[in-house]
Amino acid sequence: MRRSFFYIVLITTLFFITNCTQRWDKKYCPVLHSSSMPWELNNKGIPSVKLEVIRALDERLPTLSDREMNQILNEAKRIVRMKLGSHIDFHFHDNGIISLDELFKDKSYRNTARYRKLNRDRYDLERGPDMPCLKEEKFKKRVIKFLKRWDLKDLTGFFPDQTIINYDDVYNNLFRVYHQRVSHLKTLRTPNGNLLLKSPLPPYQSYVEWDSFLRYQDRYDIIFTNTLIMADLMSEPYPHSVLKHAKIGGGGFLCPKCTAFNGNTVMISTIEEHGNIKGLSDMDKNISRELKNKVIGGFLLAHEIGHALYLLPDVYDHGDMCLMSSSLSNFDYVRGYNLLLSDPTACSKCLQDVRTAESIIYGKLAYKDGAYNKAADSYLEGAGKMPPKIGDYVNWYKWCIYQRALELYEKIGHQENIEKTRRLIESLEDLRKKKSKKRTTLLLKKHKMSGLETTPQYLFDPTHASSSKQIYHGLAFLFLAPNIV
Ligand SMILES: [Zn+2]
Ligand SMILES: [Zn+2]
Repeated sequence: MRRSFFYIVLITTLFFITNCTQRWDKKYCPVLHSSSMPWELNNKGIPSVKLEVIRALDERLPTLSDREMNQILNEAKRIVRMKLGSHIDFHFHDNGIISLDELFKDKSYRNTARYRKLNRDRYDLERGPDMPCLKEEKFKKRVIKFLKRWDLKDLTGFFPDQTIINYDDVYNNLFRVYHQRVSHLKTLRTPNGNLLLKSPLPPYQSYVEWDSFLRYQDRYDIIFTNTLIMADLMSEPYPHSVLKHAKIGGGGFLCPKCTAFNGNTVMISTIEEHGNIKGLSDMDKNISRELKNKVIGGFLLAHEIGHALYLLPDVYDHGDMCLMSSSLSNFDYVRGYNLLLSDPTACSKCLQDVRTAESIIYGKLAYKDGAYNKAADSYLEGAGKMPPKIGDYVNWYKWCIYQRALELYEKIGHQENIEKTRRLIESLEDLRKKKSKKRTTLLLKKHKMSGLETTPQYLFDPTHASSSKQIYHGLAFLFLAPNIV
């Protein structure tokens, strides 16, 4: 029985190798050039982009003053320059303060398929552990599929006192903690003594609503809020968010119409640093407001700018002094910030990707001027700078860049470059085929040994990639899933 099952998997998998490896689809590639591209050359001839910033206010809680906002933005800029060694320029346009009610006034985002999908899996504050879906095997399976983005050994680190031997154990422990954290959230009070989590939960305190709203809006590249956002999407329980009070601290979100950040937007909640909520802020009381702001700007926002502007991934092997490092040792923000400052030079590994991003930006500018040949040349130059030791996502991104260059060469009919680019595309596709074969053999071997459930979809669907070191999360973050803290 086991043997015949193995052969079925083998045959199906080989079928997928020959068919699916061809299916890198252009429609998932980022839009590199468009007429609404916001980059300009500044008076020094350097590419520059304006980032729209807003503070969204929960009137019950302390907020950031204009001066503090400035402090945060300046620090973010300083650290990005220092740690990424970027030659391009960005500047912030502070749109001041808006109330959260006003920000969420237009509910059109609720008419999207995304919202309908997420809304089905929302945490019910009244029922808690008695929610019917928690008794469904189907729901558990979906959550476990989500948790498989992380290696099991990385997840066990979240539960040091528990014996974790499989993803079922992670699921059980995570939901046990989830309910505890939510019960705790329900007891928290604002400085005026009111309950912090409003009942019923207003849209602006729900991650489900924020995610759909951010995807829909087109006005802001960076949104700060002072409110508490509950991690209420039960089907995607980000372990670090669930463990940290079951709340969302912010991060990068998809926003297809936000062109400055390559189709992304950044949201940061400052409740932990500035909310003055007993039982929520883990930060040392002796840390000055100024240092907190520097940490928000230089550690949190700068990291998100690394993702959104330069398409950098989260990394695990560049050392803790790298801005994009996502190892658990950076869990303490102040410590992470101090580590960044302890080496005021750019990370040499990130620098390669930064140079790629810069070439792409020069390409975009050339496109805007109608210089298609120059634009395509810049794209090829950018792809050429990508590190030789590459993972699947990087190959795919490189393939996308080539496709965009090819489109432009075809537009102007540059035959020689059309052929050259086609050859580059083919060589990447060949590499993909070879790699997939090797990877599949490996996974089948693993399957045979451990009895793991390894379906062909799991092998080829990039949304289910594990968090192993060489996989470029940044790209998954950019095009497939939000990257939240
Ligand atoms: Zn990150
Ligand atoms: Zn780095």
